[in-house]
Amino acid sequence: MTSQTKYKRILLKLSGEALAGPNGYNIDPVVLEQYSKEIKQVVDLGVQVAIVIGGGNIFRGVSGERSGIDRVQGDYMGMLATVINAMAIQSSLEKHKLYTRVMSAIKMEQVCEPYVRRRAVRHLEKGRVVIFAAGTGNPYFTTDSTAALRAIEVEADVVLKGTKVDGVYTADPMKDKTATRYTSITFDDVYEKKLSVMDLTAFTLCQENNLPIIVFNMNKQGSLLKLIEGDDDQGTLIT
Ligand code: UDP
Repeated sequence: MTSQTKYKRILLKLSGEALAGPNGYNIDPVVLEQYSKEIKQVVDLGVQVAIVIGGGNIFRGVSGERSGIDRVQGDYMGMLATVINAMAIQSSLEKHKLYTRVMSAIKMEQVCEPYVRRRAVRHLEKGRVVIFAAGTGNPYFTTDSTAALRAIEVEADVVLKGTKVDGVYTADPMKDKTATRYTSITFDDVYEKKLSVMDLTAFTLCQENNLPIIVFNMNKQGSLLKLIEGDDDQGTLIT
């Protein structure tokens, strides 16, 4: 690692929906390519990168329930959807000559490794990008909670939540033109102002374990790199 980087080990959370691009479903090759380039830039700096990917572009347990699919069954379907996304990211990162491992919370040894914390840490130490798939392996959780949990387990310095907006705002910037972005905010203020950052389980896990979160715009070229280099104005830091 060079002295240019603020963080040594990061956990990057990407939503499935973001991977879908403007369509809102499936996987957009343009987005995949852009994300891979952004990730490569930080790996090349010597930063250890772990990724948690969502599955919302393919399936969500809650939406399944609305079409008559049992919630638990639907949640497992959602978890399997994250494996598909993880494999797509893996393939794209490998095109950029990065070493990668997909580790799944649900065993499927023909396509990826089972998640074993010590092995995950070892992969990271060796400079491999580790993509955590299948969420926590448990229904009723989200991939935000997975991101918080895995970040704590592998002792990441920060959770970087890549979204389509460049941080946490005083109000919804799509609806309120006067909304302004926080550059930094405390966990307590987020609770008090009822701001939406992550689901509460994920958020509480981060707070209780003193794990900072940065919400930033993953679609803004170079933003991830700038954050890693210590430009705090790229998103909202929650501590
Ligand atoms: N899911 C789950 N347990 C987990 C993580 C995910 O049951 O630990 C299921 C849940 O149904 C969720 C779906 O997988 O809706 C996809 O994950 P998520 O909604 O977090 O994806 P994102 O919104 O980030 O695309």
